[in-house]
Amino acid sequence: MPLGILGGGQLGRMLAHPAALMGIPLLILDSGPNTPAKQVSLPPAPHTQHPDGAFTSAQHIRELAQKADVLTVEIEHVDADVLAQVEADGLCTVQPAPGTIKLIQDKYLQKRHLQDRGIAVAPFAAVPEQPTMDHWKTLERELGMPLMVKSRTMAYDGKGNSPLKSLDAGDIQQTMTTLLGSAGGNKLYAEAWAPFVKEVAVMVVRNVAGQVKSYDAVETIHKDSILRVCFAPLRVAGGHGMSEVNKRAKELAERAVATLDGAGIFGVEMFLMPDGTLDSPRLPNSHTDTLPATGSLMINEIAPRPHNSGHHTIEACETSQFENHLRAILSLPLGSTSLRVPSAAMLNLIGTSESMQPIEDACNAAYGVPGATVHLYGKAECRKGRKMGHVTVTGSSDAQVRERIGPILRAMPDLAA
Ligand code: ATP
Ligand code: MG
Ligand code: MG
Repeated sequence: MPLGILGGGQLGRMLAHPAALMGIPLLILDSGPNTPAKQVSLPPAPHTQHPDGAFTSAQHIRELAQKADVLTVEIEHVDADVLAQVEADGLCTVQPAPGTIKLIQDKYLQKRHLQDRGIAVAPFAAVPEQPTMDHWKTLERELGMPLMVKSRTMAYDGKGNSPLKSLDAGDIQQTMTTLLGSAGGNKLYAEAWAPFVKEVAVMVVRNVAGQVKSYDAVETIHKDSILRVCFAPLRVAGGHGMSEVNKRAKELAERAVATLDGAGIFGVEMFLMPDGTLDSPRLPNSHTDTLPATGSLMINEIAPRPHNSGHHTIEACETSQFENHLRAILSLPLGSTSLRVPSAAMLNLIGTSESMQPIEDACNAAYGVPGATVHLYGKAECRKGRKMGHVTVTGSSDAQVRERIGPILRAMPDLAA
Protein backbone atom coordinates (compact mmCIF):
# COMPACT_ATOMS: atom_id res chain seq x y z
CA MET A 1 0.00 0.00 0.00
CA PRO A 2 1.26 3.47 -0.75
CA LEU A 3 2.63 6.16 1.53
CA GLY A 4 0.23 9.11 1.73
CA ILE A 5 1.66 12.62 1.92
CA LEU A 6 -0.40 15.59 3.08
CA GLY A 7 0.83 18.51 1.01
CA GLY A 8 2.27 18.58 -2.47
CA GLY A 9 4.71 21.49 -2.37
CA GLN A 10 8.45 21.49 -2.84
CA LEU A 11 9.12 19.35 0.22
CA GLY A 12 6.78 16.69 -1.14
CA ARG A 13 8.52 17.00 -4.50
CA MET A 14 11.90 16.35 -2.91
CA LEU A 15 10.43 13.39 -0.98
CA ALA A 16 9.13 11.99 -4.26
CA HIS A 17 12.63 11.78 -5.77
CA PRO A 18 14.12 9.25 -3.29
CA ALA A 19 10.72 7.52 -3.07
CA ALA A 20 11.01 6.79 -6.80
CA LEU A 21 14.54 5.41 -6.33
CA MET A 22 13.43 3.25 -3.42
CA GLY A 23 10.31 2.01 -5.20
CA ILE A 24 7.94 3.52 -2.66
CA PRO A 25 4.51 4.27 -4.15
CA LEU A 26 3.10 7.66 -3.14
CA LEU A 27 -0.33 9.22 -2.97
CA ILE A 28 -0.10 12.98 -2.62
CA LEU A 29 -3.04 14.99 -1.28
CA ASP A 30 -3.16 18.64 -2.28
CA SER A 31 -5.62 20.87 -4.05
CA GLY A 32 -4.83 21.11 -7.71
CA PRO A 33 -3.64 18.37 -10.04
CA ASN A 34 -0.33 19.97 -10.88
CA THR A 35 1.34 20.88 -7.59
CA PRO A 36 5.17 20.64 -7.38
CA ALA A 37 5.15 17.12 -5.87
CA LYS A 38 2.49 15.68 -8.17
CA GLN A 39 4.45 16.82 -11.22
CA VAL A 40 7.29 14.41 -10.46
CA SER A 41 5.38 11.38 -9.16
CA LEU A 42 2.87 9.17 -10.92
CA PRO A 43 0.26 7.66 -8.59
CA PRO A 44 0.60 3.87 -8.23
CA ALA A 45 -1.88 1.53 -9.94
CA PRO A 46 -4.80 1.11 -9.36
CA HIS A 47 -5.09 4.83 -8.63
CA THR A 48 -5.54 6.95 -11.69
CA GLN A 49 -4.55 10.17 -10.04
CA HIS A 50 -3.27 11.71 -6.84
CA PRO A 51 -6.16 12.95 -4.71
CA ASP A 52 -7.14 16.56 -5.35
CA GLY A 53 -8.33 18.26 -2.19
CA ALA A 54 -7.25 20.35 0.73
CA PHE A 55 -4.76 18.71 3.12
CA THR A 56 -6.85 20.32 5.86
CA SER A 57 -10.06 18.58 4.77
CA ALA A 58 -11.28 15.81 7.10
CA GLN A 59 -12.99 13.97 4.27
CA HIS A 60 -9.93 13.98 2.01
CA ILE A 61 -7.60 12.93 4.83
CA ARG A 62 -9.89 10.00 5.71
CA GLU A 63 -10.11 8.90 2.08
CA LEU A 64 -6.33 9.03 1.79
CA ALA A 65 -5.91 7.08 5.04
CA GLN A 66 -8.08 4.29 3.61
CA LYS A 67 -5.78 3.92 0.62
CA ALA A 68 -2.43 4.21 2.44
CA ASP A 69 -0.37 2.25 4.96
CA VAL A 70 1.31 5.25 6.47
CA LEU A 71 0.49 8.97 6.30
CA THR A 72 3.05 11.73 6.69
CA VAL A 73 3.09 15.50 6.21
CA GLU A 74 5.24 17.93 4.28
CA ILE A 75 3.55 20.85 6.04
CA GLU A 76 2.43 21.12 9.66
CA HIS A 77 -0.67 23.21 8.97
CA VAL A 78 -2.95 20.18 8.57
CA ASP A 79 -5.92 18.92 10.58
CA ALA A 80 -4.06 17.07 13.36
CA ASP A 81 -7.29 15.98 15.09
CA VAL A 82 -8.42 14.10 11.98
CA LEU A 83 -4.99 12.48 11.76
CA ALA A 84 -5.35 11.30 15.37
CA GLN A 85 -8.82 9.96 14.55
CA VAL A 86 -7.77 7.97 11.46
CA GLU A 87 -5.00 6.39 13.51
CA ALA A 88 -7.40 5.61 16.38
CA ASP A 89 -9.81 4.09 13.84
CA GLY A 90 -7.01 1.80 12.65
CA LEU A 91 -7.06 3.12 9.08
CA CYS A 92 -3.28 3.62 8.94
CA THR A 93 -0.36 4.89 11.02
CA VAL A 94 0.61 8.56 11.00
CA GLN A 95 4.20 9.80 11.34
CA PRO A 96 5.22 11.89 13.12
CA ALA A 97 2.58 11.45 15.85
CA PRO A 98 -0.53 13.64 15.32
CA GLY A 99 -0.05 14.99 18.86
CA THR A 100 3.41 16.23 17.89
CA ILE A 101 2.06 17.95 14.78
CA LYS A 102 -0.72 19.56 16.84
CA LEU A 103 1.70 20.79 19.49
CA ILE A 104 4.11 22.27 16.96
CA GLN A 105 1.28 23.99 15.07
CA ASP A 106 0.85 26.40 17.97
CA LYS A 107 4.23 28.11 18.47
CA TYR A 108 3.21 29.35 21.90
CA LEU A 109 2.33 25.84 23.13
CA GLN A 110 5.47 24.50 21.45
CA LYS A 111 7.60 27.00 23.38
CA ARG A 112 5.86 26.19 26.66
CA HIS A 113 6.41 22.49 26.04
CA LEU A 114 10.15 23.04 25.49
CA GLN A 115 10.54 25.45 28.39
CA ASP A 116 8.71 23.06 30.75
CA ARG A 117 11.26 20.39 29.83
CA GLY A 118 14.24 22.58 30.60
CA ILE A 119 15.11 23.42 26.99
CA ALA A 120 16.34 26.98 26.40
CA VAL A 121 14.02 29.23 24.37
CA ALA A 122 13.83 33.03 24.07
CA PRO A 123 11.64 34.44 26.87
CA PHE A 124 8.04 34.71 25.68
CA ALA A 125 4.53 35.54 26.84
CA ALA A 126 0.98 35.31 25.50
CA VAL A 127 -0.64 38.43 24.00
CA PRO A 128 -4.32 38.83 24.93
CA GLU A 129 -6.86 38.91 22.13
CA GLN A 130 -7.38 42.67 22.18
CA PRO A 131 -4.29 44.02 23.89
CA THR A 132 -4.52 47.40 25.62
CA MET A 133 -1.59 49.77 26.19
CA ASP A 134 -1.37 48.35 29.73
CA HIS A 135 -0.93 44.87 28.29
CA TRP A 136 1.86 46.09 26.01
CA LYS A 137 3.55 47.85 28.94
CA THR A 138 3.50 44.61 30.91
CA LEU A 139 5.04 42.78 27.97
CA GLU A 140 7.72 45.46 27.69
CA ARG A 141 8.48 45.10 31.40
CA GLU A 142 8.66 41.30 31.17
CA LEU A 143 10.44 40.89 27.86
CA GLY A 144 12.13 44.22 27.06
CA MET A 145 12.17 46.00 23.73
CA PRO A 146 12.15 45.38 20.82
CA LEU A 147 9.67 42.52 20.86
CA MET A 148 9.10 39.94 18.17
CA VAL A 149 5.33 39.58 18.01
CA LYS A 150 4.22 36.36 16.36
CA SER A 151 1.07 34.58 15.23
CA ARG A 152 0.70 31.41 17.27
CA THR A 153 -0.49 29.37 14.29
CA MET A 154 -0.23 29.12 10.48
CA ALA A 155 3.16 30.84 10.34
CA TYR A 156 5.77 30.18 7.66
CA ASP A 157 8.60 32.09 5.97
CA GLY A 158 8.26 34.88 8.50
CA LYS A 159 4.62 35.52 7.54
CA GLY A 160 3.22 35.75 11.03
CA ASN A 161 6.19 37.66 12.54
CA SER A 162 6.24 41.38 13.21
CA PRO A 163 9.04 43.14 15.10
CA LEU A 164 7.71 45.80 17.47
CA LYS A 165 10.35 48.45 18.05
CA SER A 166 8.53 50.72 20.48
CA LEU A 167 5.19 51.22 22.20
CA ASP A 168 4.31 54.15 19.92
CA ALA A 169 0.66 53.82 18.95
CA GLY A 170 1.70 53.79 15.27
CA ASP A 171 4.17 50.92 15.75
CA ILE A 172 1.61 48.87 17.69
CA GLN A 173 -1.01 49.56 15.07
CA GLN A 174 1.32 48.45 12.31
CA THR A 175 2.19 45.19 14.09
CA MET A 176 -1.46 44.42 14.79
CA THR A 177 -2.49 45.19 11.21
CA THR A 178 0.29 42.97 9.82
CA LEU A 179 -0.47 40.04 12.09
CA LEU A 180 -4.25 40.21 12.17
CA GLY A 181 -4.15 40.17 8.38
CA SER A 182 -1.93 37.06 8.37
CA ALA A 183 -3.27 33.52 8.10
CA GLY A 184 -2.90 32.88 11.83
CA GLY A 185 -5.57 35.47 12.68
CA ASN A 186 -5.78 36.90 16.14
CA LYS A 187 -3.95 34.40 18.35
CA LEU A 188 -0.67 36.14 19.09
CA TYR A 189 2.26 35.86 21.48
CA ALA A 190 5.42 37.87 21.98
CA GLU A 191 9.07 36.87 22.30
CA ALA A 192 11.98 38.81 23.70
CA TRP A 193 14.25 39.97 20.91
CA ALA A 194 17.11 37.47 20.60
CA PRO A 195 20.32 39.39 19.79
CA PHE A 196 21.88 36.32 18.23
CA VAL A 197 25.27 36.31 16.53
CA LYS A 198 24.21 33.54 14.19
CA GLU A 199 21.30 31.27 13.51
CA VAL A 200 22.04 27.57 13.30
CA ALA A 201 19.88 24.58 12.50
CA VAL A 202 20.16 20.84 13.02
CA MET A 203 18.10 18.19 11.28
CA VAL A 204 17.34 15.26 13.60
CA VAL A 205 15.83 12.00 12.38
CA ARG A 206 14.32 9.18 14.41
CA ASN A 207 12.96 5.95 12.97
CA VAL A 208 10.08 3.81 14.14
CA ALA A 209 12.46 1.62 16.17
CA GLY A 210 13.80 4.67 18.00
CA GLN A 211 17.18 4.93 16.25
CA VAL A 212 18.25 8.62 16.23
CA LYS A 213 20.76 10.46 14.04
CA SER A 214 21.41 14.13 13.52
CA TYR A 215 23.09 16.01 10.71
CA ASP A 216 25.90 18.45 11.41
CA ALA A 217 24.68 21.92 12.32
CA VAL A 218 24.41 24.46 9.52
CA GLU A 219 24.50 28.23 9.60
CA THR A 220 21.28 29.78 8.34
CA ILE A 221 21.05 33.38 7.20
CA HIS A 222 17.61 34.98 7.09
CA LYS A 223 16.53 38.27 5.57
CA ASP A 224 13.13 39.68 6.52
CA SER A 225 12.52 36.44 8.46
CA ILE A 226 12.92 34.27 5.31
CA LEU A 227 15.76 31.79 5.01
CA ARG A 228 18.05 32.92 2.20
CA VAL A 229 21.39 31.17 2.55
CA CYS A 230 22.61 28.13 4.42
CA PHE A 231 26.25 27.03 4.94
CA ALA A 232 27.34 23.53 5.89
CA PRO A 233 29.28 22.77 7.96
CA LEU A 234 29.35 25.76 10.34
CA ARG A 235 31.99 28.12 8.96
CA VAL A 236 35.37 28.01 10.62
CA ALA A 237 36.72 31.38 9.51
CA GLY A 238 38.96 32.65 12.26
CA GLY A 239 39.28 29.15 13.49
CA HIS A 240 38.05 28.00 16.83
CA GLY A 241 35.02 26.78 18.50
CA MET A 242 32.83 25.64 15.67
CA SER A 243 33.13 21.95 16.34
CA GLU A 244 32.23 22.78 19.91
CA VAL A 245 29.13 24.71 18.79
CA ASN A 246 28.26 21.91 16.38
CA LYS A 247 28.42 19.36 19.17
CA ARG A 248 26.28 21.45 21.52
CA ALA A 249 23.76 22.27 18.77
CA LYS A 250 23.34 18.58 17.93
CA GLU A 251 22.94 17.69 21.58
CA LEU A 252 20.32 20.39 22.17
CA ALA A 253 18.41 19.47 19.01
CA GLU A 254 18.40 15.76 19.89
CA ARG A 255 17.28 16.56 23.42
CA ALA A 256 14.42 18.69 22.10
CA VAL A 257 13.30 16.06 19.59
CA ALA A 258 13.42 13.42 22.33
CA THR A 259 10.50 15.28 23.97
CA LEU A 260 8.33 14.79 20.86
CA ASP A 261 6.57 11.57 19.85
CA GLY A 262 6.72 9.84 16.50
CA ALA A 263 9.14 8.97 13.74
CA GLY A 264 10.48 11.17 10.99
CA ILE A 265 12.79 14.07 10.38
CA PHE A 266 12.65 17.25 12.46
CA GLY A 267 14.21 20.64 11.66
CA VAL A 268 15.45 22.38 14.80
CA GLU A 269 16.13 26.12 14.40
CA MET A 270 18.38 27.71 17.01
CA PHE A 271 19.92 31.04 17.96
CA LEU A 272 23.60 31.21 18.91
CA MET A 273 23.77 33.97 21.50
CA PRO A 274 26.75 36.26 22.02
CA ASP A 275 27.12 35.46 25.70
CA GLY A 276 24.05 33.60 26.73
CA THR A 277 22.17 36.62 27.99
CA LEU A 278 19.37 38.69 26.56
CA ASP A 279 20.27 42.02 28.13
CA SER A 280 21.79 43.87 25.22
CA PRO A 281 19.21 43.74 22.44
CA ARG A 282 20.34 44.80 19.01
CA LEU A 283 19.11 44.04 15.53
CA PRO A 284 20.75 40.88 14.18
CA ASN A 285 22.37 42.20 11.05
CA SER A 286 25.99 41.38 11.67
CA HIS A 287 26.60 37.87 10.42
CA THR A 288 30.21 38.01 11.46
CA ASP A 289 32.60 35.13 11.08
CA THR A 290 34.16 35.33 14.48
CA LEU A 291 32.09 33.41 16.94
CA PRO A 292 32.22 33.02 20.66
CA ALA A 293 32.48 29.29 21.24
CA THR A 294 30.98 29.96 24.63
CA GLY A 295 27.77 31.49 23.26
CA SER A 296 24.75 29.67 24.50
CA LEU A 297 22.18 28.15 22.20
CA MET A 298 18.44 28.55 22.43
CA ILE A 299 15.73 27.01 20.30
CA ASN A 300 13.67 29.21 17.99
CA GLU A 301 11.29 26.58 16.66
CA ILE A 302 11.00 22.98 15.49
CA ALA A 303 9.48 21.73 12.25
CA PRO A 304 8.04 18.17 12.28
CA ARG A 305 9.06 17.48 8.67
CA PRO A 306 11.86 18.01 6.14
CA HIS A 307 13.13 21.57 6.37
CA ASN A 308 14.71 24.21 4.17
CA SER A 309 17.91 24.16 6.26
CA GLY A 310 18.40 20.52 5.22
CA HIS A 311 18.11 20.94 1.45
CA HIS A 312 21.90 20.81 1.02
CA THR A 313 21.79 17.20 2.30
CA ILE A 314 20.61 16.08 -1.17
CA GLU A 315 23.98 16.84 -2.75
CA ALA A 316 26.19 17.21 0.32
CA CYS A 317 25.37 14.27 2.60
CA GLU A 318 25.54 10.50 2.32
CA THR A 319 21.77 10.24 2.82
CA SER A 320 19.48 13.20 2.19
CA GLN A 321 17.00 14.45 4.78
CA PHE A 322 14.23 13.32 2.41
CA GLU A 323 15.48 9.75 2.06
CA ASN A 324 16.05 9.55 5.81
CA HIS A 325 12.51 10.76 6.46
CA LEU A 326 11.18 7.95 4.27
CA ARG A 327 13.42 5.40 5.97
CA ALA A 328 12.40 6.71 9.40
CA ILE A 329 8.66 6.45 8.90
CA LEU A 330 8.73 3.18 6.94
CA SER A 331 10.58 1.20 9.65
CA LEU A 332 13.87 1.06 7.76
CA PRO A 333 17.35 1.61 9.21
CA LEU A 334 18.53 5.22 8.98
CA GLY A 335 21.21 6.22 6.47
CA SER A 336 24.46 8.00 7.29
CA THR A 337 24.04 11.71 7.96
CA SER A 338 27.72 12.50 7.29
CA LEU A 339 28.75 15.16 4.82
CA ARG A 340 30.23 13.63 1.70
CA VAL A 341 31.83 16.89 0.57
CA PRO A 342 33.98 19.20 2.68
CA SER A 343 31.70 22.20 2.23
CA ALA A 344 28.33 23.23 0.78
CA ALA A 345 26.01 26.21 0.53
CA MET A 346 22.33 26.42 -0.31
CA LEU A 347 20.86 29.58 -1.83
CA ASN A 348 17.09 30.00 -1.91
CA LEU A 349 15.57 31.34 -5.12
CA ILE A 350 12.85 33.66 -3.85
CA GLY A 351 10.49 35.64 -6.06
CA THR A 352 10.98 39.40 -6.07
CA SER A 353 7.80 40.08 -8.09
CA GLU A 354 5.51 38.20 -10.43
CA SER A 355 8.34 37.90 -12.92
CA MET A 356 10.39 34.68 -13.13
CA GLN A 357 13.18 36.59 -14.87
CA PRO A 358 15.31 37.26 -11.76
CA ILE A 359 15.02 33.57 -10.80
CA GLU A 360 16.05 32.54 -14.30
CA ASP A 361 18.99 34.96 -14.18
CA ALA A 362 20.20 33.35 -10.95
CA CYS A 363 19.77 29.85 -12.45
CA ASN A 364 21.72 30.86 -15.54
CA ALA A 365 24.53 32.13 -13.32
CA ALA A 366 24.42 28.83 -11.41
CA TYR A 367 24.66 26.73 -14.58
CA GLY A 368 28.10 28.29 -15.12
CA VAL A 369 29.34 27.34 -11.66
CA PRO A 370 31.10 24.01 -11.03
CA GLY A 371 29.50 22.05 -8.20
CA ALA A 372 26.18 23.93 -8.47
CA THR A 373 22.85 22.09 -8.74
CA VAL A 374 19.69 23.98 -9.66
CA HIS A 375 16.35 22.95 -8.17
CA LEU A 376 13.24 24.62 -9.58
CA TYR A 377 10.01 23.62 -7.89
CA GLY A 378 7.65 23.96 -10.84
CA LYS A 379 5.32 26.45 -9.16
CA ALA A 380 2.84 27.91 -11.61
CA GLU A 381 3.11 31.50 -10.41
CA CYS A 382 5.98 33.55 -9.14
CA ARG A 383 5.25 36.01 -6.33
CA LYS A 384 7.28 38.31 -4.14
CA GLY A 385 8.58 36.34 -1.17
CA ARG A 386 7.65 32.94 -2.64
CA LYS A 387 10.22 30.14 -2.63
CA MET A 388 10.54 29.16 -6.29
CA GLY A 389 13.62 26.96 -6.04
CA HIS A 390 17.10 26.73 -4.61
CA VAL A 391 20.69 26.16 -5.70
CA THR A 392 23.13 23.93 -3.85
CA VAL A 393 26.83 24.52 -4.35
CA THR A 394 29.43 22.03 -3.13
CA GLY A 395 33.19 22.37 -3.01
CA SER A 396 36.46 21.17 -1.58
CA SER A 397 36.67 23.93 1.04
CA ASP A 398 34.65 26.72 2.58
CA ALA A 399 36.78 29.23 0.66
CA GLN A 400 36.02 27.48 -2.63
CA VAL A 401 32.28 27.34 -1.94
CA ARG A 402 32.22 31.03 -1.07
CA GLU A 403 34.04 31.84 -4.29
CA ARG A 404 31.66 29.64 -6.27
CA ILE A 405 28.50 31.25 -4.91
CA GLY A 406 29.78 34.73 -5.82
CA PRO A 407 28.40 34.88 -9.38
CA ILE A 408 25.04 33.45 -8.27
CA LEU A 409 24.68 35.96 -5.43
CA ARG A 410 25.58 38.77 -7.82
CA ALA A 411 22.66 37.68 -10.01
CA MET A 412 20.33 38.07 -7.00
CA PRO A 413 20.30 41.85 -6.42
CA ASP A 414 17.60 41.69 -3.73
CA LEU A 415 19.95 39.70 -1.52
CA ALA A 416 22.62 42.36 -1.67
CA ALA A 417 20.08 45.07 -0.77
P1 ATP B 1 9.86 29.23 9.04
O1 ATP B 1 9.78 29.54 7.60
O2 ATP B 1 11.25 28.85 9.49
O3 ATP B 1 8.80 28.28 9.53
P2 ATP B 1 8.48 31.18 10.67
O4 ATP B 1 7.56 31.99 9.85
O5 ATP B 1 7.89 30.09 11.50
O6 ATP B 1 9.66 30.63 9.78
P3 ATP B 1 10.28 32.02 12.78
O7 ATP B 1 11.17 30.86 12.58
O8 ATP B 1 9.58 32.14 14.07
O9 ATP B 1 9.23 32.21 11.59
O10 ATP B 1 11.14 33.34 12.58
C1 ATP B 1 11.75 33.60 11.33
C2 ATP B 1 13.04 34.37 11.57
O11 ATP B 1 12.77 35.60 12.27
C3 ATP B 1 14.04 33.66 12.44
O12 ATP B 1 14.77 32.69 11.70
C4 ATP B 1 14.90 34.84 12.90
O13 ATP B 1 15.73 35.30 11.86
C5 ATP B 1 13.84 35.89 13.16
N1 ATP B 1 13.37 35.79 14.55
C6 ATP B 1 12.39 34.98 15.02
N2 ATP B 1 12.21 35.12 16.36
C7 ATP B 1 13.10 36.05 16.76
C8 ATP B 1 13.42 36.65 18.03
N3 ATP B 1 12.79 36.31 19.15
N4 ATP B 1 14.41 37.58 18.03
C9 ATP B 1 15.06 37.94 16.91
N5 ATP B 1 14.80 37.43 15.70
C10 ATP B 1 13.85 36.49 15.61
MG1 MG C 1 8.07 28.08 11.29
MG1 MG D 1 11.56 29.36 11.42
